[in-house]
Amino acid sequence: MSREIHLVSYPTGVPTEANFSVVTSEIAALQEGQALVRNLYMSVDPYMRGRMSGRTSYVPPFELGKPLDGGAVGEVVESRSDLVKPGDAVLSRYGWREYFTAAASELQPVERGIEPLSVYLGALGMPGMAAWVGLNLVDVKKGDIIYISGAAGAVGSVAGQLAKLRGCHTVGSAGSSDKVNYLVDECHYDSAFNYKYGAISNMLSQAAPEGIDVYFDNVGGESLEAALTALRPHGRIIACGGISQYNADKPVPGPSNLFNMITKRLTWKGFIVGDSMKQMPEFLSEVGAFYREGKLKNRETVLKGIELAPEAFIGLFSGENIGKMVVDLS
Ligand code: NDP
Repeated sequence: MSREIHLVSYPTGVPTEANFSVVTSEIAALQEGQALVRNLYMSVDPYMRGRMSGRTSYVPPFELGKPLDGGAVGEVVESRSDLVKPGDAVLSRYGWREYFTAAASELQPVERGIEPLSVYLGALGMPGMAAWVGLNLVDVKKGDIIYISGAAGAVGSVAGQLAKLRGCHTVGSAGSSDKVNYLVDECHYDSAFNYKYGAISNMLSQAAPEGIDVYFDNVGGESLEAALTALRPHGRIIACGGISQYNADKPVPGPSNLFNMITKRLTWKGFIVGDSMKQMPEFLSEVGAFYREGKLKNRETVLKGIELAPEAFIGLFSGENIGKMVVDLS
């Protein structure tokens, strides 16, 4: 038997525990070509909120009464395939459950030696890759002054560290004093501020009086508007996410100062990390080396037990996590 999390209703506004249920179900029998996997860690990610609307976006919606899915890292318990063997560590899309059987071809083997294995859900996983793809998208390079919102989260903390390693001047914003300290002390941001303490535009212009060259947008809303004001001519915007609006129940008006796009000749590029999976080996080689050499930290906030997965997910929208939010299922 295995426990799994089902979505029982589509949330309105911020999701609540009532939108989820813990269900115990029988693990499907192992067929030829399949493996039985015990999940060790699962990921909760902001994009999952978009799948809880019942509408198709760039990914299909979650179905009610079925297990949710998402990134997970686990160990093979039993295998009827040559592709994986018991004890192998594998990455899969079968999160939100303790055990599963799946075609071995759907599993991505990962290096067992790296500790903790949950790093494959954070700095060396989808969020870390989003940071790397985003920086490459607008050719972030030495000397750039970059502002990153959502800076203490999974994507933002890696983006800031990678930008610093490239020789950028880094400015970050996050929603608590602990996070601001983490940005400066552990992620080596040149400056950081708590966006809840006042007008973001004022705090950004204090942190970067000469303006910024790049804005890495994880948040949208007021941060985006402030960045449009702070960007210098020919500046670039990396459109990664807009979490400030994911729980909005009606369309939110855009920034009032979009005309800066024209007067400052700005470039604004969006991306979906899943489109860049062919670059995974290059990403793992470059960013994995930083991690192994201790140049890149992978901070995590870990909740233990499948029953806490909904709480972990909901916590993303009130900033409960520093670094990557992970659920430990071991
Ligand atoms: P995080 O680990 O950063 O977790 C979410 C964080 O967002 C919270 O900790 C909270 O931090 C902040 N937040 C929540 N609500 C608000 C709000 N109203 N205003 C400002 N900040 C808020 O998540 P990820 O690093 O995984 O994702 C960051 C962004 O990147 C998301 O928008 C996500 O959708 C996007 N993304 C996009 C990808 C792509 O392919 N384009 C891939 C992966 C992620 P705080 O305490 O600072 O408020």
